[in-house]
Amino acid sequence: MKRYVLYEVDLERKTAFCTACGYTEIYIPNTRTQTKPRVICINKARELWLNNRAKQRKLRAEREQRLDRKPRHTLTEINPETLRATCAVCGRTDIRKGIQGKYQSFECLTWRRGYMRKYKRSHYTGLSTNPMHYPKLTKRTRPPFVQSAGL
Ligand SMILES: [Zn+2]
Ligand SMILES: [Zn+2]
Repeated sequence: MKRYVLYEVDLERKTAFCTACGYTEIYIPNTRTQTKPRVICINKARELWLNNRAKQRKLRAEREQRLDRKPRHTLTEINPETLRATCAVCGRTDIRKGIQGKYQSFECLTWRRGYMRKYKRSHYTGLSTNPMHYPKLTKRTRPPFVQSAGL
């Protein structure tokens, strides 16, 4: 990593001598709290900005991947008497009755238990990284990115 040290900083003309780039433009961060703004070389600023954007993009890609990989707990060999079935993800599992629309359906209880644990944990910390897991949240408590995720 290059070292950017600035000399001869001219705040009016926004120029300085940078040890990495020579005479260059400078970027003055918007500082309301600091009396003496910490200026950085424009190239450094660009680098930081690009870094930050790459990080954001990576985070978004990871989040989308997580949503895509949401396993589908499809049940087969359902036995409504014993409430047992074979789940595509968990194998043999307990199931429970659920209602979807006007049809009766069954859902994987192994998944359901994990879901409840996750829900409680995220509920206490107030952090939810995957909106797909929390369909019961009201609009008011939903994190803002739910809408942008196209749900
Ligand atoms: Zn520089
Ligand atoms: Zn399952």
